[in-house]
Amino acid sequence: RFEGITMAPPDPILGVSEAFKADTNEMKLNLGVGAYRTEELQPYVLNVVKKAENLMLERGDNKEYLPIEGLAAFNKATAELLFGAGHPVIKEQRVATIQGLSGTGSLRLAAALIERYFPGAKVVISSPTWGNHKNIFNDAKVPWSEYRYYDPKTIGLDFEGMIADIKEAPEGSFILLHGCAHNPTGIDPTPEQWVKIADVIQEKNHIPFFDVAYQGFASGSLDEDAASVRLFAERGMEFFVAQSYSKNLGLYAERIGAINVVCSSADAATRVKSQLKRIARPMYSNPPVHGARIVANVVGDATMFSEWKAEMEMMAGRIKTVRQELYDSLVSKDKSGKDWSFILKQIGMFSFTGLNKTQSDNMTNKWHVYMTKDGRISLAGLSLAKCEYLADAIIDSYHN
Ligand code: PMP
Repeated sequence: RFEGITMAPPDPILGVSEAFKADTNEMKLNLGVGAYRTEELQPYVLNVVKKAENLMLERGDNKEYLPIEGLAAFNKATAELLFGAGHPVIKEQRVATIQGLSGTGSLRLAAALIERYFPGAKVVISSPTWGNHKNIFNDAKVPWSEYRYYDPKTIGLDFEGMIADIKEAPEGSFILLHGCAHNPTGIDPTPEQWVKIADVIQEKNHIPFFDVAYQGFASGSLDEDAASVRLFAERGMEFFVAQSYSKNLGLYAERIGAINVVCSSADAATRVKSQLKRIARPMYSNPPVHGARIVANVVGDATMFSEWKAEMEMMAGRIKTVRQELYDSLVSKDKSGKDWSFILKQIGMFSFTGLNKTQSDNMTNKWHVYMTKDGRISLAGLSLAKCEYLADAIIDSYHN
């Protein structure tokens, strides 16, 4: 009976890594998946993570099941990191937080809640967005549509289009927003633009749905990267925030994150939390403990917390340095007079190069540079030593 099952297409992001592995050329470069690498292009485990893990061994922490909602100390820490300790939404106990299977699993829980309690409501996502968003909502049977975001003419934000499309969406839609470091474009609204986005969302009784996958990793500051979310919290709005510790603590494979639902009362938050638990129980029963303990230990200890911030600044700093170096190489090598300044305006681990599918294919087929076909490159997988080579590849692909 399994004979009838057809082949599924490869994943557009994770499939890039598979193709990279199969390439034997020594100049090959994997700029596909968004994972931090050192200047030597090796994976990096944060020192503070090793410290937190040692602490667990010393304490003899056990492996008993967590409750469905996850580790209490983690849930407290993650909400405080997001909103700031002592924020009114926390003091008033208006946030329902449960531990999720990283950003993806947390988004999926929220999608299931939407499907059950807001039947027919649409999620409106940016065009383009992280490739998995559409999969997640399709899988949860939540209808979605897109708002304009990227303007290919300026390789910048189509702010007018974005506002018009959010206004146009049926009242009470969920508006998916990237908290910081928009994936794949690296283009974020300015603080002034965020205020206008909040205005139209409020006007139309929409419900914001933040995806925060890069807190502290974009600017190097946890507070700065949470400014968009906090702006909405200050307005007393109800909204979702999915969080991930894959990038900022380098815990990719630990699958640690959370879904936060900011409600208008403590009572509503209690009820929402009970329903999130009901969704989680038949899906995976309860979440893994290891990553949750790492986060709780790091955030709960003043010394480790400041060490984490220093390592995050170091990682964000390395990415900013290669971004500058790539720009400098492009400007010095390209004789066409093209304006490359868009690269410096983007933030976070990605750069949207503006290369189309054919040009991206040229990057891979001729230059052995692996990247997603939408023209996105991960600067976290780039070293200073490889910037000139990459600039040659980009210039060749643009002009041929
Ligand atoms: N959202 C966005 C925008 C992302 O870029 C990512 C990671 N690529 C995620 C969510 C989720 O990643 P994870 O499931 O590893 O937390």
